Amino acid sequence: MNKPQGILLVLSGPSGAGKGTICGRLLEKRDHMAYSVSCTTREPRKGEVDGKNYFFKTREEFEEMIKNGGLLEHASVYGNYYGTPRQYVLDKLNEGLDVVLEIDPQGALQVKKSYPDGVFVFIVPPSLDELSKRIYKRGTDAVDVIKRRLSAATSELAYASKYDYIVVNDEVERATDKVSKIIDVEHLKVGRTYYIVDEICQQKTTEQD
Ligand code: 5GP
Repeated sequence: MNKPQGILLVLSGPSGAGKGTICGRLLEKRDHMAYSVSCTTREPRKGEVDGKNYFFKTREEFEEMIKNGGLLEHASVYGNYYGTPRQYVLDKLNEGLDVVLEIDPQGALQVKKSYPDGVFVFIVPPSLDELSKRIYKRGTDAVDVIKRRLSAATSELAYASKYDYIVVNDEVERATDKVSKIIDVEHLKVGRTYYIVDEICQQKTTEQD
């Protein structure tokens, strides 16, 4: 058995749950990890950089990517398209890097179908009150957008049961450590580590020869 690919880590959770911050901390703290920059048709927020936060696309460009099979998954969220560029993710996994996707549940379910070996983690806020505070504090969205995101939060929470793990983000470092431990444990699963046993057995037979 050859050395396994990296882990495809899918993080979802309602807007304001803190997925982005946790992703950022994971990338700072862990080696061999890559972030998949998504494509979107939504307008850039203040401070967002094309190619870093998102690849900002027109609807026509996005639809062309769907047609060409360039996206691993895509979904319409709050009236805009969002999607994961396929090739980047596959390349990084083949290089043995763990790849993190920060995507909504519709997209996560598509990934689960096409890539069942992925690890699916749902981030929840400690309460809806806290979620509301965080979204207002972030101050990056218009009030009507905020209201829409808050009302979507409850229906989004219903998807949590489809995931492998639930992590409460009451405190960023604690939540990041939990996700990091999940990645560590997933790396130890037999399907990913059996090659070590193969290598050991190989050594034994060579020594005995
Ligand atoms: P935001 O506009 O706040 O950056 O993102 C809105 C929602 O879209 C979030 O739940 C975010 O996780 C999700 N999202 C971001 N990128 C993707 C993607 O590539 N695919 C899907 N399906 N959802 C995404």
